Amino acid sequence: MSEANFDFDLIVIGAGYGGFDAAKHAADHGMKVAIVESREMGGTCVNRGCVPSKALLAASGKVRELADSAHLAGFGIHASPVRFERQKIADHANQLVATIRSNLTKTLERAGVKILRGIGRLEGAQRVGLRDKNGVDRVLSAKDVIIATGSDPFVPPGIETDGRTVFTSDEAINLEWLPRWIAIIGSGYIGLEFADVYTALGCEVTMVEALERVMPTFDPDISKLAIRNLIDGRDIDARAGLLAGKVSPGCPVKIDLLDVKSRELVEELEVDAVLVATGRVPSSKGLNLESVGVITNRGFLPIDDSMRVLIDGEPVPHLWAVGDVTGKLMLAHTAAAQGTVAVENILGKERLIDYRSIPAATFTHPEISSVGLTEADAKELAIKEGFDLGIVRSYFKANSKALAELESDGLMKLLFRKDNGEVLGAHIYGLHAADLIQEVANAVSRRQTVIDLAYEVHTHPTLSEVVEMSYKLAINQIKNTSLN
Ligand SMILES: Cc1cc2nc3c(=O)[nH]c(=O)nc-3n(C[C@H](O)[C@H](O)[C@H](O)COP(=O)(O)OP(=O)(O)OC[C@H]3O[C@@H](n4cnc5c(N)ncnc54)[C@H](O)[C@@H]3O)c2cc1C
Repeated sequence: MSEANFDFDLIVIGAGYGGFDAAKHAADHGMKVAIVESREMGGTCVNRGCVPSKALLAASGKVRELADSAHLAGFGIHASPVRFERQKIADHANQLVATIRSNLTKTLERAGVKILRGIGRLEGAQRVGLRDKNGVDRVLSAKDVIIATGSDPFVPPGIETDGRTVFTSDEAINLEWLPRWIAIIGSGYIGLEFADVYTALGCEVTMVEALERVMPTFDPDISKLAIRNLIDGRDIDARAGLLAGKVSPGCPVKIDLLDVKSRELVEELEVDAVLVATGRVPSSKGLNLESVGVITNRGFLPIDDSMRVLIDGEPVPHLWAVGDVTGKLMLAHTAAAQGTVAVENILGKERLIDYRSIPAATFTHPEISSVGLTEADAKELAIKEGFDLGIVRSYFKANSKALAELESDGLMKLLFRKDNGEVLGAHIYGLHAADLIQEVANAVSRRQTVIDLAYEVHTHPTLSEVVEMSYKLAINQIKNTSLN
């Protein structure tokens, strides 16, 4: 279906998860596709994000388990003191990155996608400029262009990084050394996952959070339980309402902690290292968006639900954006889903993204996950649409599998409409929460009701019965109505 007047049917700028899925989906549907990448193939997720961090969490999680003598004694197991090699753990992560990066590159090549190395930019409508590492510049044309340039770590003003003593997740994933005492700035999912790794490997952590409470973006009930186990139960001193005003690298690293409201100095800390985990900013500088008249929202590209880039709310013909650079639920599977949605629309098949059904997970030990609406948003919707909101909680303590594993600290909170039983969201803390949430995500995606879900049979004994229990508790709340 290649159009004669263009060099390509589609050029994708950025080969992260979003760009990869878009390019592959388009090539699989017969389009002539090129993908432009200025760094390593695979983007943040493969090289500096999901993949290496999960490898570190897998290894450090085993260390934590083997070092937990009280837990093992519960089974009558007594192991000798656990030993680990930091370098081998780092190597495990690096090797996994190399394997996945190579698989992903080969997959694109096999699909017939042309991989172009260099920095991409727009050169007006349906034109992409490409500067390679030797400075050679050329302009290519394409019927459609997808921007998938992702994001980079955000480092707040006043914090100076040197990549060795003060660093972001980009460097932390290399696990080059293990500081005796590390301050982690930010208690979002990246800060929590690294706190999990560092504490398992024997480091002392101070966690600094500017907002009023630690884990501010999580459901309050879930974070209460998670804080008790993941923070208070470990070698972590968590401080909320404090701003790391000034951080100077060195030995030791000096941190000025300021009161977030008064901006007065509260304390000066001296630690061995600082991990800055304060969120991410879109990579949209240098894209020459002016050439098509697109204005960003603090660097994020405005899009509609079919991934069309917008100017003043109106779509720009043949220009699309997916992934972190759009600022919607900045996760790898969101980027990938957006990539597929963009290409489906390019192919003329109308498809919209459904952000409500996209799950999110934090891979701590145990894990945290969520999908759909927060309790606050669900309450707001209930008032707006005039329905009663149902909330039920099911506990891992009542689950045979969790009890058999001696890991029964966990909670699932389910939000649903009492008028028709529709599942609105769920929040889980507990063993394998990241896997458990998928069932609820599928239910949200299909807009299913607890009335049907409560009768679906779950394998016994499995953790999935925690979800089943939630559905059963929910249906009890709407019993004796005409619905049931
Ligand atoms: C530590 C960490 C852990 C994470 N863990 C998870 C997780 O467990 N699960 C999950 O779902 N998500 C996780 N994420 C988030 C996930 O990595 C991102 O959401 C995902 O990578 C976004 O994909 P993307 O395609 O939008 O962008 P990216 O992966 O950032 O890829 C964009 C690509 O575009 C390239 N690029 C940028 N500008 C240009 C240009 N002008 N020309 C050419 N190329 C360009 C970049 O080099 C990059 O390769 C994690 C992130 C971090 C940092």
